[in-house]
Order: sequence, then structure tokens, then C-alpha cells
Amino acid sequence: MKKDMICISCPMGCRISAQWEVDSDIIVTGNKCERGVIYGQEEILSPRRVVTATIAIHSSWLGRMPVMTSGTLPKGLIDPLLNKIYEMHLDIPIVRDDIIIQNIENTGIDLIATRSVKT
Ligand code: SF4
Repeated sequence: MKKDMICISCPMGCRISAQWEVDSDIIVTGNKCERGVIYGQEEILSPRRVVTATIAIHSSWLGRMPVMTSGTLPKGLIDPLLNKIYEMHLDIPIVRDDIIIQNIENTGIDLIATRSVKT
């Protein structure tokens, strides 16, 4: 089997291909560095993404503030996380890098604030 994809591990965006057979290693080609191999193999075995979103806050001048995950999450955890995020309403002040949700589903990945809001 073969899957063509674009590596999103850095801005170079290499076009890479992953090829594999049942019970064989996944061979990645087209990558300009080793991270492309890891990305291509993960895309076949367990695709992961960084999640960015906004959360509603109690602020006099800003309705929502940006957040992101501290690393990549398995795709299957993304929709449940977004549903949780869109139900939340945070009190301020919030400081950039504050942890909003710790250890999402025991992945070791946190949801963190990406800006500060004081009023
Ligand atoms: S293979 Fe390496 S250089 Fe190419 S996009 Fe992926 S991380 Fe960047």
C-alpha cells in the first residue's frame, strides 16, 4: 500500500510517500530529514495533530482567548477536546502559558494559554 502526503513537521512541507505491506516496516521516501520519516510513519499508524482553538472568557474587552496543545494529540481525541473547549468559560486574569487543561486524557499533553488577558 502507498500513501502520498505532505510533511507538516516544518515549513518546508516536503511531499513524502509512505509504502508498506502487511507485517512489514513502513518505508518513507521524499523526506529531507529524519522527522519526515517519523511523521510519515505516525500518519499511517496513529495520526496526531497540534490543536489550536479559542476559549470564551469573562473579560470586558475580549470575548475569547487563544489556546493550543503543548504537543500533538491522537486525532481521535481532538473532537472531544474541542467539544470541551467550546463549553468552557474562563475567569481572568490568565497568563500566557497557564495550563488550562492538564494531561489531556492521560497523554501528557496540556492545553495552554497562548496570550495573557488581565482585564
Ligand atoms: S521531511 Fe524534514 S524538512 Fe521536510 S517538511 Fe518534514 S521536517 Fe521539514
